[in-house]
Amino acid sequence: MPVVDRHLFGPGPSNPYPEATAALGLPLLGHLDPEFLRILDETCDRLRTVFGTANARTLPLSGTGSAGMEAAFVNAVHPGDVVVVAANGLFGERMIDVADRCGAEVVPVRFPWGTPVQPEAVLAAHPSPALIAVVHAETSTGVRNDVAALGAVKGDALLLADCVTSIGGIEVAVDEWGVDIAYAGTQKCLGVAPGLAPFTIGERAWGRRVLRPRSWYLDLNLLGGYVGAAAGTSGRTYHHTAPVAMVASLHASLGRIIAEGLDVVAARHHEAGRALQDGLAELGLELFAAEGHRLPDLTTVVVPADVDSATVRRTLLQRYGIEIGGSVGEYADRVWRIGLMGHNARPDAVALVLGALREVLKR
Ligand SMILES: *Cc1c(COP(=O)(O)O)cnc(C)c1O
Repeated sequence: MPVVDRHLFGPGPSNPYPEATAALGLPLLGHLDPEFLRILDETCDRLRTVFGTANARTLPLSGTGSAGMEAAFVNAVHPGDVVVVAANGLFGERMIDVADRCGAEVVPVRFPWGTPVQPEAVLAAHPSPALIAVVHAETSTGVRNDVAALGAVKGDALLLADCVTSIGGIEVAVDEWGVDIAYAGTQKCLGVAPGLAPFTIGERAWGRRVLRPRSWYLDLNLLGGYVGAAAGTSGRTYHHTAPVAMVASLHASLGRIIAEGLDVVAARHHEAGRALQDGLAELGLELFAAEGHRLPDLTTVVVPADVDSATVRRTLLQRYGIEIGGSVGEYADRVWRIGLMGHNARPDAVALVLGALREVLKR
């Protein structure tokens, strides 16, 4: 099989941190090896740090970010619960589908793609929802939603936040913002291969949890024993075989991020995103996401009318080994998505993607 080296600027996997890649090459440990259990415990601790939470129940679920979404709803939503979902992109729409499959009475509150969620409209949608769900960083549109504003006014409702494209990239403060349940993925700003879903649930949500969710694999009642003491329960029991290599890789990446400093990492993403967005404007390109609500780690660009989106993406890939993303649905060929996540949030990566775009677009 040919091995090709790509610069992944897409919304999917970003280039992993070198520390995360190196950890994948270490000898495998058994999933009950004391050294692995130590790594798992420390991974849960490190996840608490990057989520900004003291929640005992914080762990990496086995599965990609969508498994985190599924786990959040299946463990928190009882049939008939009113669930308000704020949706301004693909991942908000996915939440609506997942909540519906859990038997919720879903109240979708939709906003035009490229614009942010408006907290007042979300609150006005229902007087007493059991749960309000929102995507912090909408990867499909490049928009940042104000989770803290929802947390401040959620009332008795639980607040569920998708932090897949924010954790390890922009500020996330689960406890300070009043988030009851949050999940993430590894392949965005955490700079690890796809495969795990960092997850956290607070006491209020735990007290209202579903005792026998439809999913056995994602049943948090059973997963307490899997992570053992780290999740506030004593003793460890076999639930499923931990993906040991992925956990080791996540552990290494989180170690690097925490050592660099969460504020420093966020500033690095902010600066890289600003430089990319300024550079795109200099090339005469229009940004898709509303000004003032743009993510630094995922930039959306309106494809110029005289340009074929697929041809440009193919040329970037073939000539420069650079992958950027198209969009989805009605925007599939009308918007590009350029990620600067984790290891890619650097000035040299910005220069590379801007230089390639300038040549390909002849600007
Ligand atoms: C990528 C992503 C997901 C889904 O994660 P997968 O790893 O693809 O399952 C969910 N929400 C957001 C905001 C994402 O960017």
